Amino acid sequence: MSRISFNKPHLTGKELHYISEAHALGQLSGDGPFTKRCNTWLEEQTGCKRALLTNSCTAALEMAAILADIAPGDEIIMPSFTFSSTANAFVLRGGVPVFVDIRRDTLNIDETKIEAAITSKTKAIVPVHYAGVSCEMDTIMAIADRHGLLVIEDAAQGIMSTYKGRPLGSIGHLGCLSFHETKNIVAGEGGALLINDERFIDRAEIIREKGTNRSKFFRGQVDKYTWVDIGSSYLPGEIVAAFLWAQMEDARRITQKRLSIWGEYQVGLAAMERDGVLRLPVVPADCTHNAHMFYVLFGNLDRRSEAIQFLNQRDITAVFHYIPLHSSPAGLRFGRSHGDMTVTDDTSDRLLRLSLYVDMTEADTQKVIEGLVAFGRSISA
Ligand SMILES: *Cc1c(COP(=O)(O)O)cnc(C)c1O
Repeated sequence: MSRISFNKPHLTGKELHYISEAHALGQLSGDGPFTKRCNTWLEEQTGCKRALLTNSCTAALEMAAILADIAPGDEIIMPSFTFSSTANAFVLRGGVPVFVDIRRDTLNIDETKIEAAITSKTKAIVPVHYAGVSCEMDTIMAIADRHGLLVIEDAAQGIMSTYKGRPLGSIGHLGCLSFHETKNIVAGEGGALLINDERFIDRAEIIREKGTNRSKFFRGQVDKYTWVDIGSSYLPGEIVAAFLWAQMEDARRITQKRLSIWGEYQVGLAAMERDGVLRLPVVPADCTHNAHMFYVLFGNLDRRSEAIQFLNQRDITAVFHYIPLHSSPAGLRFGRSHGDMTVTDDTSDRLLRLSLYVDMTEADTQKVIEGLVAFGRSISA
């Protein structure tokens, strides 16, 4: 039997059709008909005031850092248990990431530790919705409100997930999504900036278009376009948007399929959790999730290493992440921690991610479950 890979990007079958349509139209730079369709879909799907397709979630985070007017020395509160881009986007502007610990249950930023990390230099809070499960947004928005801070959601993993009925990325002032091939809805490389606070719309369009008012020009609002602010090239071309459109059309079905695989894992591994061999993901009652990830937590680092080896021998790939940012070379250089990072460090040692992709067969999923069950037996024997 062949090896079960960790991830395989799913194709809906319509991608090449839309790409050839874009090609035939001959408008290949950004903001053509496919980009507009994707933006509108995102606005309808999330209820944000304006959605702008970007080259990546990293690009959307960089735009957010510019919109937040991050200046050298400004502090941005975020978890350490995340991907480099969450912090890097702000460091590029001279900002200082201030890392706080995560919650034991959802592995999201511990909202009870945010307020103590706020100083006179704090500008923004960046909650990361790990595994597509929402942070405690009501509390985070209330803290931001009390202290006059911006909230920029890193919703890279959060498309089609909700918090109290509200789509992720639509709750903070700004939200950032990813369509990287490892995410649920893919464009190869791609992302979007969701703008929920209208005062950012005009400037966001300018930043995304190399600092020019080109978008206004195309809408006939100015008679020539020119360089008006800082910016970069943050918009994808139409070929990427055409590919992404095929995925967006199928977003509901893709999410359903992922949720069914996630559910099989949850049922298949429940006994192992009862036996204390591992812990399963926690989804709070007021959250719906998108099955971006299925992870398990072992008792300690050695157990996890044994599990990886055991599964490997059975042709099952399982991977871990993140090396916490607060202990990474760049995190040490550019950021600082507030308070102890016990849960972050501990989680980083114990977490294991299981294969989860749309085209996984029932047999694949069962093989992974059986592999883990066999591992559980091997350590109790
Ligand atoms: C994937 C990811 C990103 C980066 O997304 P890109 O689209 O690859 O730039 C940022 N933050 C988190 C939490 C992610 O999972």
